[in-house]
Amino acid sequence: MRTKTNFAWVFLFMLVFFTIMGKPVDAATSADVKLVINHEQVSADVMPLIQDGRTLVPARAVFEALGGTVKWDPVNEIVTVEYDTTTVVLKINDTAATVNGKSKMLDVPATIKDNRTIIPVRFVAEELGYLVGWVESTRTVTITSPETPGESPEITGYIQDVSIDKGTSKNENTIVTVELSEPLKASDGYQTTTLIGPDRFVLDVKNFLVDLKVSDLTYDQKDSPLAAVRVAVYNESTARVVCDLKEGTIPAVTLSADGKTLTITFRTLSTYFNPMEDGKLVVILDPGHGAATAGKQSPEGLLKEYEFNRSVANKMKSYLEAEGIEVLLTVHDDSDPTLADRCASANNSDADIFVSIHANAFGSGKEWTSPNGWEIYHYQGSVLGNKLATAISNANFPGLGINNRGIKTANFYVIKNTYIPAVLIEHGFFTNIDEVKLLQSEEWREKAARYNVEGIVNFLKSYE
Ligand SMILES: [Zn+2]
Repeated sequence: MRTKTNFAWVFLFMLVFFTIMGKPVDAATSADVKLVINHEQVSADVMPLIQDGRTLVPARAVFEALGGTVKWDPVNEIVTVEYDTTTVVLKINDTAATVNGKSKMLDVPATIKDNRTIIPVRFVAEELGYLVGWVESTRTVTITSPETPGESPEITGYIQDVSIDKGTSKNENTIVTVELSEPLKASDGYQTTTLIGPDRFVLDVKNFLVDLKVSDLTYDQKDSPLAAVRVAVYNESTARVVCDLKEGTIPAVTLSADGKTLTITFRTLSTYFNPMEDGKLVVILDPGHGAATAGKQSPEGLLKEYEFNRSVANKMKSYLEAEGIEVLLTVHDDSDPTLADRCASANNSDADIFVSIHANAFGSGKEWTSPNGWEIYHYQGSVLGNKLATAISNANFPGLGINNRGIKTANFYVIKNTYIPAVLIEHGFFTNIDEVKLLQSEEWREKAARYNVEGIVNFLKSYE
């Protein structure tokens, strides 16, 4: 390791050249070339330039960025660079150089421009093993110490800009945009990681570095899970975007068609609930199953679950609308949309809460069985789902008049994949010969719908 380091330094020494008087190089080419050494932008009064297709870099600026010392002999135009145990001697306009007394040949000599010594960087790279890169879009020369000689990564480009914008829906609450100087190649790719304690979401972009003008951002919106975005070079070839979060959440990451924009989209903070924020209350009702769904009916074909679910949902719709609450349905006929479609209906709407309507079953469905009673589910860990389930349960009992199996948690698809407070009600067992009579009864359906709505209204009103 020591040897490698010294060797690398030697290399840099060659980069080092000194200044003071001399014949100026014809400054025909642009002076706006940036210089990045070991991932840090270095400024110099004479910046790198491109001359006859070669990149020339200022020796002193490079050397000083690397921490060496330089001596200049103006009479003989000789520069001596020292670092650790290595000494490099170079002469202006002379291709002969020495490293610790041993002769080395430069293909192009060091020269002088505006009283600054500049050297062709490619020579240094090839002779000494440093990784020298050129990013056309930002006109940046990069000089990087190789950590693994022989496997030096090629830098594709830079993260040029990072911004945070407020989204327009619960599903797209906060949008972090990462702009790249060059398209992300399929072989480079990006990788995401979630970290806990504290919660963070990490996006690594391989073979990219970070433009120095990119700065860290903080974000202070009470409905957003995002607190800050930090951007840094993670290792010599990976740029890392770290999103500091208020809660563990996995955002959606997409890459634009041109490969130059990565978008990280966060949903609304799960504990944030302000249903009147948009000036209206909206409930989406999800009557389960469809007429053609296999099973889902009583023994002897006495009751089809889809019909009960739709009947109760429609009654609830009337009661909710009478309260001035807007009602959406995940299905408008007897068909059975996929669970994903049912969730999408909710996630792509203005709905404040999601209520899925079902009746329960036990056994094969061919015979009557004894399990009975009402129960309500929310997604495990959902504080708001639990609160909604509690309000609906409290409204139903004791009035509903059947066994209360209680408030439960489950990973049911529709309560897991909706991003608003969500519950699923099992209104009793259509496989129980006594309970099916209640489920068939218009009167009992009215009662169940009214209690459900009472619970929903109580829940929503607590946020007014
Ligand atoms: Zn069901």
